[in-house]
Amino acid sequence: MHTADVVLIGGGIVGSSIAYHLVAAGCKSVLVIERETAQGRGSTGKSMGGVRAQFSTPVNIQMSLYSIPFYASFEERLGYPCDYRPRGYLFCATNEKHMAYLRANYEEQVAMGLKNVQLVAGDEIRGMFPLLRGNDIIGGSFCATDGFVDPNSAMIGFMTWASDHGATLWKNATVTAIARRGETFEVTTTGESVSTPVVVNCAGAWAAEIARMVGISLPVEPLRRMLVPTEPFDQFPHTAPMIVDMSTGFHFRPESRGFLFAWNDPEETPGYKTDFDPGFIEKILTRAADRVPVFENVEVNPQRAWAGLYEMTPDHHPILGESPEVPGFFFANGFSGHGVMHSPATGKILSDLILTGKTELIEASLLNFSRFAEGRMIHETAVL
Ligand SMILES: Cc1cc2nc3c(=O)[nH]c(=O)nc-3n(C[C@H](O)[C@H](O)[C@H](O)COP(=O)(O)OP(=O)(O)OC[C@H]3O[C@@H](n4cnc5c(N)ncnc54)[C@H](O)[C@@H]3O)c2cc1C
Repeated sequence: MHTADVVLIGGGIVGSSIAYHLVAAGCKSVLVIERETAQGRGSTGKSMGGVRAQFSTPVNIQMSLYSIPFYASFEERLGYPCDYRPRGYLFCATNEKHMAYLRANYEEQVAMGLKNVQLVAGDEIRGMFPLLRGNDIIGGSFCATDGFVDPNSAMIGFMTWASDHGATLWKNATVTAIARRGETFEVTTTGESVSTPVVVNCAGAWAAEIARMVGISLPVEPLRRMLVPTEPFDQFPHTAPMIVDMSTGFHFRPESRGFLFAWNDPEETPGYKTDFDPGFIEKILTRAADRVPVFENVEVNPQRAWAGLYEMTPDHHPILGESPEVPGFFFANGFSGHGVMHSPATGKILSDLILTGKTELIEASLLNFSRFAEGRMIHETAVL
């Protein structure tokens, strides 16, 4: 039987960031357990890599205010790249309701200390991107420090730094049981077992299965999300930010020599579906060509499109911190599609809570598990 001060179940970007933050804070006896033979086969490797501070709730904005500067200085801090590209996110509103929403969010973001966000007029957007169909765009908001990272590089950077400084990663080891033995847990895997006083659930879309092992019913549901990359395409500028058409939810960003298209299909239903549905291509291309008429000419190879899982909670905010029912068992779950951008903050918050019992990064009770039972859900509406 091995021992560790902290055991993290799941070696995606969240487990890796928590490992980094724990080790950086001086806790060296950290074990990350990953069931796959390589990291990144969960949601992290499927992500669009978008990072933004343009949220509607203060706690999400705060998480981004830690995470985005962290990504900007990632290589300096860790010695590994994360490919942060501050190209911005441009939200385009086509009706007064959406514009009022962006205005209210803008005021909240500025009040929280976000410096680079600005409201933009419809004419400015048409001037910046004449290839957008702009006749119905009445305005928008843009934040220059929003942008993209390479999720895989960030995850590997976090984990490699942690391993270089004392942490251990078990790959090809599926956690099958967690038993409470007095003050410690015995974590059983398909390989070896480990005894530890602290277990952190970092199992992404599979988090509810891990929670069930200690008798907790965790409200985290998998929801399929599909992305469509285009073939090389030069008729739209490759310097573009993430552009979000608020009338349909269609959004896209440059990727390699083409573009990456995303759209939240309202017909999608929860479940562990990771196959790509070819019928999605026509749905998304219709929305793409509607907002960017030259996208009528893009070519798409369905073999290159993919699907992954969002890990949804009822209020679209993560569940962070110690279980009130099972002391020593922590959650880092339910990012509802924002786990890459919020992984630096999550690592810091969990490391603070595990090592000192408190954190100054956010008001931790806002995101604790008890909020569901106590009717304190905080709805995020800026979900893409
Ligand atoms: C198509 C798509 C686009 C996205 N776009 C964005 C975006 O633009 N920006 C953003 O911030 N987020 C985005 N996300 C969400 C983001 O990818 C996730 O929130 C994030 O990757 C969650 O990280 P994680 O480490 O919690 O989960 P994961 O990366 O899924 O890692 C969990 C790990 O746990 C392991 N595991 C599960 N069960 C066990 C077990 N029993 N034993 C051992 N290991 C186990 C899994 O193998 C997996 O590796 C997107 C997601 C998808 C699917």
